[in-house]
Amino acid sequence: MHFASTRDPAVRTTLSGALRQGLAPDGGLFLPCEWPHLNVASFDATDDYGDRLNDTAIRMIAPFAAGDGLAAAIPDIVKEAFNLPAPCVPLTDDGRYSVLELFHGPTAAFKDFGARFLAACFSRLHRPAGRTINILVATSGDTGGAVAAAFHGRAGARVTLLFPKGLVSPTQERQLTCWGDNVVSCAVRGTFDECQRIVKEAFVDASLREQFELSSANSINIGRLLPQATYFGAISLASFVRHGEPLSFIIPSGNLGNAFACMVARTMGMPVGEIVLAHNANRTVVDFLATGEWTPRPSITTLASAMDVGNPSNMERFRALFPHLSQLRSAISAVSVNDAAICQRIRLDADRYGRVWCPHTATAAEAYARLPESSRVAQRWCVVATAHPAKFPEVVEPLIGRTLDVPDNLRALFSREVRVEEIDASLPSLRRVLEATG
Ligand SMILES: *Cc1c(COP(=O)(O)O)cnc(C)c1O
Repeated sequence: MHFASTRDPAVRTTLSGALRQGLAPDGGLFLPCEWPHLNVASFDATDDYGDRLNDTAIRMIAPFAAGDGLAAAIPDIVKEAFNLPAPCVPLTDDGRYSVLELFHGPTAAFKDFGARFLAACFSRLHRPAGRTINILVATSGDTGGAVAAAFHGRAGARVTLLFPKGLVSPTQERQLTCWGDNVVSCAVRGTFDECQRIVKEAFVDASLREQFELSSANSINIGRLLPQATYFGAISLASFVRHGEPLSFIIPSGNLGNAFACMVARTMGMPVGEIVLAHNANRTVVDFLATGEWTPRPSITTLASAMDVGNPSNMERFRALFPHLSQLRSAISAVSVNDAAICQRIRLDADRYGRVWCPHTATAAEAYARLPESSRVAQRWCVVATAHPAKFPEVVEPLIGRTLDVPDNLRALFSREVRVEEIDASLPSLRRVLEATG
């Protein structure tokens, strides 16, 4: 199996190469050269999703590793990375509306799945002359914490986090800065888009690449997407086996990594129905689907801050998969939910379902409420809960009028010492950090 750049099919590599490089050398994103197809009927007919996440994950990921040095290790990697619960909980009595809880990992957000898979792969990659791999991460909140947690203390890897100073929640900032050792946290005087730009500049800077073995753990890395595809595959399969119907997903979206992962599952033949992208007030994707004009713009600050992305990188993958707008429009739909609607949805659903959403998950719950009645009746719907509400107490608690219990995973993070450096939004500043700590 080979992976090629979205910009030039001649730029290709294997799974290990794509993991290591993150971004393709021509600035494009890696996509598999062909899509493996799994036959739903070939999975055995038990419907216990809890038992089949590992099994499904191995079968979904193995074809991408065919012929690569990591192929034999995939079962171990999956076992190590997916040692997390991902329960799908019904919200209505008839079970046709449910929530997939992806927040039971060490940093209480779905990004733990991808980050842990990537870390498990990286610790098995061949490193030339024992060089340290430098992982650069631009983060709008949850990525950095998940990557730091997954790589902290692992030999042969060093993580440099860049996050927009003052634009992540206090709880997120805590989990970005509580590491030390092989994790360096930088508060950047700028926006998330600027953090992402610096990381992209670093990857195309030949002298920096010469000096440091650079890699990325952003959702541009295919090693984040493939593991995320597996929970969509496993849970849609469980639903299909039990009810004979595909499962449609509503996914809180920013950089579109999780949404594209869901598309990967569907492309591989898993019984995924509709895919709805729930965005906050950052409307770039919503407007593109409506008008056909791709107009990236500066990001707007919202309550769902991990989705404050004005130029979502993974749209390049969607457009490579669906070159014509009409194809893309029939493959996905998207809605934009503003802060007022997020707040109202958190209040309403706490009453209606007894469930407290984080602000990101609330965009998806709101998108469900806005579906036409006919579509809510015709399909089985699953909202994806991307983070635990206790990560956003300053938003959520005033809305529901009570304090939230802090789960054990977050409590453990909060007891650690804080370490952070403040830098300008420029490549030279990042270079100085790498030189000082490398
Ligand atoms: C990162 C994140 C998102 C957006 O995910 P993408 O893959 O970037 O679209 C949504 N919710 C939470 C809690 C996140 O951390």
